[in-house]
Amino acid sequence: MKRSYVLITILTVLFLGKSAIAQNTYLHCGNVIDGVQDELLGEHTLIIENQKITAIEKGYQSPTNNATAINLRDKTCLPGLIDMHVHLEGQTSPDNYIKQFTLNTSDVAFNAIGYAKTTLMAGFTTVRDVGGSGVNISLRDAINAGKVVGPRIFTAGKSIATTGGHADPTNGWKNEIEGDPGPKEGVVNGVADSRKAVRQRYKDGSDLIKITATGGVLSMAKSGTAPQFKMDELEAIIQTANDIGYHVAAHAHGVEGMQRAIKAGVTTIEHGTLMDEETMNMMKEYGTYLVPTITAGKSVADSAKIPGYYPEVVVPKAKAIGPEIQKMFSRAYKNGVNVAFGTDAGVFAHGKNAKEFGYMVEAGMPPMKAIQSATLTAAKILKMDTQIGTLESGKLADVIAVSGNPIENISTLENVSFVMKEGVIHKNQ
Ligand SMILES: [Zn+2]
Repeated sequence: MKRSYVLITILTVLFLGKSAIAQNTYLHCGNVIDGVQDELLGEHTLIIENQKITAIEKGYQSPTNNATAINLRDKTCLPGLIDMHVHLEGQTSPDNYIKQFTLNTSDVAFNAIGYAKTTLMAGFTTVRDVGGSGVNISLRDAINAGKVVGPRIFTAGKSIATTGGHADPTNGWKNEIEGDPGPKEGVVNGVADSRKAVRQRYKDGSDLIKITATGGVLSMAKSGTAPQFKMDELEAIIQTANDIGYHVAAHAHGVEGMQRAIKAGVTTIEHGTLMDEETMNMMKEYGTYLVPTITAGKSVADSAKIPGYYPEVVVPKAKAIGPEIQKMFSRAYKNGVNVAFGTDAGVFAHGKNAKEFGYMVEAGMPPMKAIQSATLTAAKILKMDTQIGTLESGKLADVIAVSGNPIENISTLENVSFVMKEGVIHKNQ
Protein backbone atom coordinates (compact mmCIF):
# COMPACT_ATOMS: atom_id res chain seq x y z
CA MET A 1 0.00 0.00 0.00
CA LYS A 2 2.69 2.39 1.07
CA ARG A 3 4.79 1.81 -2.05
CA SER A 4 1.85 2.41 -4.40
CA TYR A 5 1.06 5.62 -2.51
CA VAL A 6 4.62 6.84 -3.02
CA LEU A 7 4.45 5.90 -6.70
CA ILE A 8 1.18 7.78 -7.15
CA THR A 9 2.69 10.80 -5.42
CA ILE A 10 5.74 10.74 -7.70
CA LEU A 11 3.58 10.32 -10.79
CA THR A 12 1.29 13.13 -9.68
CA VAL A 13 4.24 15.42 -9.11
CA LEU A 14 5.73 14.55 -12.52
CA PHE A 15 2.39 15.02 -14.21
CA LEU A 16 1.62 18.37 -12.63
CA GLY A 17 5.05 19.79 -13.29
CA LYS A 18 7.11 22.13 -11.19
CA SER A 19 4.61 24.94 -10.78
CA ALA A 20 2.23 22.87 -8.67
CA ILE A 21 4.83 21.52 -6.26
CA ALA A 22 4.80 23.00 -2.81
CA GLN A 23 8.36 23.85 -1.79
CA ASN A 24 9.91 24.85 1.46
CA THR A 25 9.50 28.58 1.72
CA TYR A 26 10.33 31.31 4.20
CA LEU A 27 7.88 34.18 3.97
CA HIS A 28 9.40 37.39 5.33
CA CYS A 29 6.27 39.34 6.31
CA GLY A 30 6.57 42.99 7.35
CA ASN A 31 3.41 42.57 9.38
CA VAL A 32 1.14 39.69 10.31
CA ILE A 33 -2.56 39.34 11.06
CA ASP A 34 -2.82 35.75 12.26
CA GLY A 35 -6.60 35.51 12.56
CA VAL A 36 -6.41 34.72 16.28
CA GLN A 37 -4.99 37.82 17.93
CA ASP A 38 -6.64 41.20 17.63
CA GLU A 39 -3.34 43.04 17.04
CA LEU A 40 -0.92 43.27 14.15
CA LEU A 41 2.12 41.20 15.07
CA GLY A 42 4.93 43.04 13.27
CA GLU A 43 7.87 41.44 11.41
CA HIS A 44 7.71 37.65 11.26
CA THR A 45 8.94 34.73 9.21
CA LEU A 46 6.40 32.10 8.23
CA ILE A 47 8.16 28.83 7.59
CA ILE A 48 6.32 26.67 5.07
CA GLU A 49 7.23 23.05 4.49
CA ASN A 50 5.31 21.31 1.73
CA GLN A 51 1.62 22.15 2.28
CA LYS A 52 1.87 23.35 5.87
CA ILE A 53 3.01 26.16 8.10
CA THR A 54 5.60 24.57 10.39
CA ALA A 55 6.70 27.64 12.35
CA ILE A 56 6.07 31.35 12.78
CA GLU A 57 9.12 33.14 14.14
CA LYS A 58 9.81 36.73 15.12
CA GLY A 59 11.96 38.81 12.73
CA TYR A 60 13.42 37.65 9.42
CA GLN A 61 14.96 34.18 9.64
CA SER A 62 17.45 33.01 7.00
CA PRO A 63 16.26 30.03 4.99
CA THR A 64 17.96 26.67 5.46
CA ASN A 65 17.86 23.34 3.58
CA ASN A 66 17.31 24.75 0.08
CA ALA A 67 14.26 26.71 1.19
CA THR A 68 13.44 29.89 -0.72
CA ALA A 69 12.89 33.25 0.98
CA ILE A 70 10.07 35.45 -0.31
CA ASN A 71 10.35 39.15 0.38
CA LEU A 72 7.03 40.45 1.73
CA ARG A 73 8.75 42.96 4.03
CA ASP A 74 6.59 45.87 2.88
CA LYS A 75 3.40 43.83 3.16
CA THR A 76 0.94 42.47 5.69
CA CYS A 77 0.43 38.69 5.64
CA LEU A 78 -2.96 37.24 6.49
CA PRO A 79 -4.67 33.84 6.40
CA GLY A 80 -6.18 33.01 3.00
CA LEU A 81 -9.64 34.57 2.86
CA ILE A 82 -12.86 32.54 2.89
CA ASP A 83 -16.02 33.67 1.07
CA MET A 84 -19.04 31.75 2.38
CA HIS A 85 -21.36 32.73 -0.46
CA VAL A 86 -20.30 32.51 -4.09
CA HIS A 87 -21.70 31.04 -7.30
CA LEU A 88 -18.74 30.01 -9.43
CA GLU A 89 -20.78 28.70 -12.35
CA GLY A 90 -21.90 32.08 -13.64
CA GLN A 91 -21.51 35.83 -13.58
CA THR A 92 -23.94 38.70 -14.00
CA SER A 93 -24.57 40.09 -17.49
CA PRO A 94 -27.58 41.60 -19.25
CA ASP A 95 -28.05 38.39 -21.28
CA ASN A 96 -27.77 36.07 -18.28
CA TYR A 97 -31.36 34.83 -18.45
CA ILE A 98 -31.00 33.56 -22.02
CA LYS A 99 -27.76 31.75 -21.24
CA GLN A 100 -29.59 28.90 -19.50
CA PHE A 101 -30.91 27.98 -22.96
CA THR A 102 -27.75 28.57 -24.95
CA LEU A 103 -24.85 27.34 -22.84
CA ASN A 104 -23.94 23.67 -22.72
CA THR A 105 -22.74 22.16 -19.46
CA SER A 106 -19.23 22.18 -20.87
CA ASP A 107 -19.50 25.93 -21.59
CA VAL A 108 -20.58 26.50 -17.99
CA ALA A 109 -17.61 24.44 -16.82
CA PHE A 110 -15.07 26.35 -18.90
CA ASN A 111 -16.49 29.66 -17.67
CA ALA A 112 -16.36 28.40 -14.08
CA ILE A 113 -12.66 27.58 -14.42
CA GLY A 114 -12.01 31.24 -15.19
CA TYR A 115 -14.14 32.50 -12.31
CA ALA A 116 -12.43 30.10 -9.92
CA LYS A 117 -8.98 31.34 -10.89
CA THR A 118 -10.06 34.98 -10.61
CA THR A 119 -11.40 34.27 -7.12
CA LEU A 120 -8.17 32.65 -5.95
CA MET A 121 -6.06 35.49 -7.37
CA ALA A 122 -8.19 37.92 -5.34
CA GLY A 123 -6.96 36.21 -2.18
CA PHE A 124 -9.86 33.85 -1.53
CA THR A 125 -8.26 30.46 -0.97
CA THR A 126 -11.52 28.84 0.16
CA VAL A 127 -15.13 29.42 -0.91
CA ARG A 128 -18.53 27.97 -0.20
CA ASP A 129 -20.45 27.64 -3.47
CA VAL A 130 -24.10 27.89 -2.48
CA GLY A 131 -25.81 26.83 -5.65
CA GLY A 132 -25.27 25.98 -9.27
CA SER A 133 -26.09 23.06 -11.54
CA GLY A 134 -23.61 20.53 -10.18
CA VAL A 135 -20.68 21.69 -12.32
CA ASN A 136 -19.47 23.20 -9.04
CA ILE A 137 -18.97 19.65 -7.69
CA SER A 138 -16.79 18.67 -10.67
CA LEU A 139 -14.94 21.98 -10.38
CA ARG A 140 -14.14 21.27 -6.72
CA ASP A 141 -12.77 17.86 -7.65
CA ALA A 142 -10.73 19.23 -10.57
CA ILE A 143 -9.17 21.88 -8.32
CA ASN A 144 -8.43 19.33 -5.58
CA ALA A 145 -6.80 17.07 -8.18
CA GLY A 146 -4.61 19.94 -9.41
CA LYS A 147 -6.13 19.89 -12.91
CA VAL A 148 -7.20 23.53 -12.72
CA VAL A 149 -6.31 26.44 -10.44
CA GLY A 150 -8.86 27.75 -7.97
CA PRO A 151 -9.90 28.06 -4.36
CA ARG A 152 -10.75 25.09 -2.15
CA ILE A 153 -14.49 24.65 -2.70
CA PHE A 154 -17.23 23.49 -0.38
CA THR A 155 -20.32 23.17 -2.52
CA ALA A 156 -24.05 22.74 -2.12
CA GLY A 157 -24.36 21.40 -5.66
CA LYS A 158 -27.84 22.44 -6.79
CA SER A 159 -29.92 24.44 -4.26
CA ILE A 160 -33.19 23.07 -2.90
CA ALA A 161 -36.43 25.03 -3.42
CA THR A 162 -40.19 24.44 -3.53
CA THR A 163 -42.21 24.49 -6.76
CA GLY A 164 -42.03 28.04 -8.11
CA GLY A 165 -39.56 28.90 -5.34
CA HIS A 166 -36.40 30.95 -5.76
CA ALA A 167 -34.25 28.01 -6.93
CA ASP A 168 -36.86 26.20 -9.05
CA PRO A 169 -34.75 25.87 -12.22
CA THR A 170 -37.68 26.32 -14.63
CA ASN A 171 -39.20 29.42 -13.03
CA GLY A 172 -40.63 31.80 -15.60
CA TRP A 173 -40.38 29.30 -18.47
CA LYS A 174 -43.37 28.75 -20.77
CA ASN A 175 -45.68 25.85 -19.92
CA GLU A 176 -44.56 23.61 -22.78
CA ILE A 177 -40.99 23.41 -21.52
CA GLU A 178 -41.20 24.00 -17.79
CA GLY A 179 -41.76 20.30 -16.99
CA ASP A 180 -42.16 19.24 -13.37
CA PRO A 181 -38.77 19.28 -11.68
CA GLY A 182 -38.60 17.16 -8.53
CA PRO A 183 -36.22 16.31 -5.69
CA LYS A 184 -33.45 15.24 -8.06
CA GLU A 185 -33.48 18.73 -9.59
CA GLY A 186 -33.79 20.27 -6.14
CA VAL A 187 -37.53 20.99 -6.12
CA VAL A 188 -39.52 19.58 -3.22
CA ASN A 189 -43.10 19.50 -1.95
CA GLY A 190 -43.61 17.67 1.31
CA VAL A 191 -41.48 15.71 3.72
CA ALA A 192 -40.58 12.72 1.52
CA ASP A 193 -39.37 14.97 -1.31
CA SER A 194 -37.36 17.03 1.15
CA ARG A 195 -35.52 14.00 2.48
CA LYS A 196 -34.95 12.65 -1.01
CA ALA A 197 -33.51 15.94 -2.28
CA VAL A 198 -30.95 15.98 0.54
CA ARG A 199 -30.01 12.34 -0.05
CA GLN A 200 -29.66 13.02 -3.78
CA ARG A 201 -27.18 15.80 -3.03
CA TYR A 202 -25.25 13.45 -0.81
CA LYS A 203 -25.18 10.98 -3.68
CA ASP A 204 -24.09 13.72 -6.09
CA GLY A 205 -21.15 14.56 -3.82
CA SER A 206 -22.10 17.93 -2.39
CA ASP A 207 -20.58 19.14 0.89
CA LEU A 208 -23.57 20.96 2.36
CA ILE A 209 -27.19 21.84 1.64
CA LYS A 210 -28.51 25.18 0.44
CA ILE A 211 -32.20 26.03 0.58
CA THR A 212 -34.09 29.07 -0.65
CA ALA A 213 -36.27 29.75 2.40
CA THR A 214 -37.94 32.82 0.90
CA GLY A 215 -38.37 34.37 -2.52
CA GLY A 216 -35.33 36.00 -4.08
CA VAL A 217 -34.41 39.00 -6.15
CA LEU A 218 -33.18 37.48 -9.40
CA SER A 219 -35.72 34.67 -9.94
CA MET A 220 -38.62 35.12 -12.38
CA ALA A 221 -41.24 35.32 -9.65
CA LYS A 222 -43.16 38.12 -8.01
CA SER A 223 -42.27 37.96 -4.34
CA GLY A 224 -38.72 38.37 -3.12
CA THR A 225 -39.60 37.90 0.52
CA ALA A 226 -42.48 35.42 1.08
CA PRO A 227 -41.75 32.15 2.94
CA GLN A 228 -41.44 29.14 0.62
CA PHE A 229 -41.20 26.05 2.83
CA LYS A 230 -43.51 24.60 5.46
CA MET A 231 -42.02 23.80 8.85
CA ASP A 232 -42.17 20.03 8.32
CA GLU A 233 -40.26 20.36 5.03
CA LEU A 234 -37.56 22.45 6.68
CA GLU A 235 -37.23 20.01 9.57
CA ALA A 236 -37.01 17.07 7.15
CA ILE A 237 -34.24 18.79 5.19
CA ILE A 238 -32.19 19.85 8.18
CA GLN A 239 -32.52 16.59 10.10
CA THR A 240 -31.61 14.54 7.02
CA ALA A 241 -28.68 16.85 6.32
CA ASN A 242 -27.44 16.67 9.90
CA ASP A 243 -27.66 12.86 9.80
CA ILE A 244 -25.00 12.86 7.09
CA GLY A 245 -22.90 15.57 8.74
CA TYR A 246 -23.96 18.41 6.44
CA HIS A 247 -24.84 21.91 7.53
CA VAL A 248 -27.64 23.89 5.88
CA ALA A 249 -27.43 27.41 4.45
CA ALA A 250 -30.71 29.26 3.98
CA HIS A 251 -31.23 32.08 1.52
CA ALA A 252 -33.78 34.42 3.18
CA HIS A 253 -34.95 38.00 2.72
CA GLY A 254 -38.30 38.05 4.61
CA VAL A 255 -38.82 37.59 8.34
CA GLU A 256 -41.31 34.69 8.39
CA GLY A 257 -39.21 32.39 6.18
CA MET A 258 -36.08 33.40 8.09
CA GLN A 259 -37.64 32.56 11.46
CA ARG A 260 -38.89 29.18 10.26
CA ALA A 261 -35.42 28.33 8.94
CA ILE A 262 -33.72 29.39 12.19
CA LYS A 263 -36.16 27.35 14.31
CA ALA A 264 -35.66 24.32 12.07
CA GLY A 265 -31.90 24.57 12.69
CA VAL A 266 -30.11 26.05 9.69
CA THR A 267 -26.51 27.07 10.33
CA THR A 268 -26.42 30.24 8.23
CA ILE A 269 -28.93 32.81 7.02
CA GLU A 270 -27.84 34.23 3.67
CA HIS A 271 -28.68 37.94 3.00
CA GLY A 272 -31.11 38.33 5.93
CA THR A 273 -32.39 41.55 4.37
CA LEU A 274 -35.50 42.37 6.40
CA MET A 275 -34.25 40.86 9.66
CA ASP A 276 -35.95 42.57 12.63
CA GLU A 277 -34.92 42.68 16.26
CA GLU A 278 -37.00 39.65 17.21
CA THR A 279 -35.30 37.61 14.49
CA MET A 280 -31.86 38.89 15.53
CA ASN A 281 -32.53 37.68 19.06
CA MET A 282 -33.60 34.33 17.64
CA MET A 283 -30.35 34.15 15.63
CA LYS A 284 -28.38 34.62 18.86
CA GLU A 285 -30.51 32.11 20.77
CA TYR A 286 -30.02 29.40 18.13
CA GLY A 287 -26.39 30.31 17.34
CA THR A 288 -27.22 31.01 13.68
CA TYR A 289 -24.75 32.98 11.57
CA LEU A 290 -25.63 35.84 9.24
CA VAL A 291 -23.84 35.79 5.86
CA PRO A 292 -24.62 39.35 4.75
CA THR A 293 -23.76 39.68 1.00
CA ILE A 294 -23.94 43.50 1.13
CA THR A 295 -22.01 43.73 -2.15
CA ALA A 296 -24.69 41.76 -3.97
CA GLY A 297 -27.42 44.01 -2.58
CA LYS A 298 -25.70 47.17 -3.75
CA SER A 299 -24.80 45.62 -7.08
CA VAL A 300 -28.32 44.46 -8.00
CA ALA A 301 -29.77 47.83 -6.95
CA ASP A 302 -27.29 49.55 -9.32
CA SER A 303 -27.85 47.14 -12.22
CA ALA A 304 -31.65 47.53 -11.85
CA LYS A 305 -31.24 51.20 -12.82
CA ILE A 306 -29.90 50.16 -16.25
CA PRO A 307 -32.91 49.73 -18.57
CA GLY A 308 -33.21 46.13 -19.80
CA TYR A 309 -30.45 44.71 -17.58
CA TYR A 310 -32.93 42.54 -15.66
CA PRO A 311 -36.37 41.17 -16.66
CA GLU A 312 -39.23 43.45 -15.59
CA VAL A 313 -40.38 41.21 -12.73
CA VAL A 314 -36.90 41.44 -11.16
CA VAL A 315 -36.41 45.24 -11.30
CA PRO A 316 -38.75 46.31 -8.45
CA LYS A 317 -37.38 43.54 -6.20
CA ALA A 318 -33.78 44.55 -6.86
CA LYS A 319 -34.55 48.21 -6.16
CA ALA A 320 -36.45 47.44 -2.95
CA ILE A 321 -34.30 44.69 -1.43
CA GLY A 322 -30.79 45.60 -2.61
CA PRO A 323 -30.19 48.79 -0.63
CA GLU A 324 -31.58 47.34 2.63
CA ILE A 325 -28.88 44.75 3.29
CA GLN A 326 -26.16 47.08 4.57
CA LYS A 327 -28.59 48.87 6.91
CA MET A 328 -29.78 45.54 8.31
CA PHE A 329 -26.17 44.38 8.68
CA SER A 330 -25.33 47.46 10.71
CA ARG A 331 -28.19 46.76 13.14
CA ALA A 332 -27.46 43.02 13.29
CA TYR A 333 -23.77 43.50 14.05
CA LYS A 334 -24.50 46.03 16.80
CA ASN A 335 -27.11 43.64 18.19
CA GLY A 336 -24.47 40.92 18.58
CA VAL A 337 -25.54 38.56 15.78
CA ASN A 338 -22.73 36.21 14.67
CA VAL A 339 -21.42 37.13 11.23
CA ALA A 340 -19.61 35.05 8.63
CA PHE A 341 -18.22 36.80 5.56
CA GLY A 342 -20.04 36.16 2.27
CA THR A 343 -20.61 38.19 -0.87
CA ASP A 344 -22.79 36.38 -3.45
CA ALA A 345 -20.02 36.81 -6.06
CA GLY A 346 -21.43 35.84 -9.42
CA VAL A 347 -24.35 38.19 -8.82
CA PHE A 348 -21.53 40.73 -9.36
CA ALA A 349 -18.14 40.15 -11.01
CA HIS A 350 -15.95 37.44 -9.49
CA GLY A 351 -12.73 38.74 -7.97
CA LYS A 352 -14.43 41.80 -6.42
CA ASN A 353 -15.29 39.81 -3.28
CA ALA A 354 -13.13 41.96 -0.96
CA LYS A 355 -15.31 45.03 -1.55
CA GLU A 356 -17.55 43.45 1.09
CA PHE A 357 -14.96 44.27 3.78
CA GLY A 358 -15.30 47.98 3.06
CA TYR A 359 -19.08 47.81 3.28
CA MET A 360 -18.90 45.89 6.57
CA VAL A 361 -16.52 48.45 8.07
CA GLU A 362 -18.64 51.33 6.74
CA ALA A 363 -21.60 49.75 8.58
CA GLY A 364 -19.73 49.78 11.90
CA MET A 365 -17.82 46.50 12.11
CA PRO A 366 -14.17 46.96 13.17
CA PRO A 367 -11.72 45.92 10.39
CA MET A 368 -10.15 43.14 12.46
CA LYS A 369 -13.59 41.65 13.19
CA ALA A 370 -14.47 41.79 9.49
CA ILE A 371 -11.23 39.94 8.66
CA GLN A 372 -11.90 37.33 11.35
CA SER A 373 -15.40 36.76 9.90
CA ALA A 374 -13.66 35.79 6.63
CA THR A 375 -11.04 33.59 8.26
CA LEU A 376 -11.48 31.73 11.56
CA THR A 377 -15.27 32.16 11.85
CA ALA A 378 -15.86 30.89 8.31
CA ALA A 379 -13.43 28.01 8.86
CA LYS A 380 -15.38 26.95 11.96
CA ILE A 381 -18.67 26.76 10.03
CA LEU A 382 -16.94 24.60 7.42
CA LYS A 383 -15.51 22.42 10.24
CA MET A 384 -12.08 23.25 8.82
CA ASP A 385 -10.76 25.35 11.70
CA THR A 386 -8.07 22.82 12.58
CA GLN A 387 -6.66 23.23 9.06
CA ILE A 388 -7.40 26.75 7.77
CA GLY A 389 -8.57 30.17 8.95
CA THR A 390 -5.50 31.25 10.93
CA LEU A 391 -1.75 31.50 10.48
CA GLU A 392 -0.55 28.92 13.00
CA SER A 393 2.01 26.17 13.04
CA GLY A 394 0.47 22.92 11.81
CA LYS A 395 -2.16 24.53 9.59
CA LEU A 396 -2.32 24.39 5.82
CA ALA A 397 -0.23 27.16 4.26
CA ASP A 398 -3.01 29.36 2.88
CA VAL A 399 -1.39 32.78 3.07
CA ILE A 400 -2.06 36.07 1.32
CA ALA A 401 -0.36 39.45 1.51
CA VAL A 402 -1.40 43.04 0.83
CA SER A 403 0.48 46.32 0.76
CA GLY A 404 0.15 48.49 3.81
CA ASN A 405 -2.07 47.96 6.81
CA PRO A 406 -5.61 46.64 6.23
CA ILE A 407 -6.66 47.73 9.72
CA GLU A 408 -5.97 51.36 8.79
CA ASN A 409 -7.16 50.99 5.21
CA ILE A 410 -9.51 48.05 4.70
CA SER A 411 -9.67 48.62 0.93
CA THR A 412 -6.10 47.35 0.60
CA LEU A 413 -7.68 43.87 0.75
CA GLU A 414 -9.07 44.60 -2.72
CA ASN A 415 -5.51 44.47 -4.08
CA VAL A 416 -3.99 41.21 -2.92
CA SER A 417 -0.43 40.94 -4.23
CA PHE A 418 0.57 37.50 -2.93
CA VAL A 419 -1.43 34.28 -2.84
CA MET A 420 -0.25 30.94 -1.50
CA LYS A 421 -2.60 27.96 -1.23
CA GLU A 422 -1.40 24.81 0.52
CA GLY A 423 2.20 25.95 0.17
CA VAL A 424 1.99 26.66 -3.58
CA ILE A 425 2.52 30.26 -4.66
CA HIS A 426 -0.10 31.29 -7.21
CA LYS A 427 0.58 35.02 -7.24
CA ASN A 428 3.55 37.17 -6.22
CA GLN A 429 3.55 40.71 -7.60
ZN1 LIG B 1 -26.53 33.54 -3.80
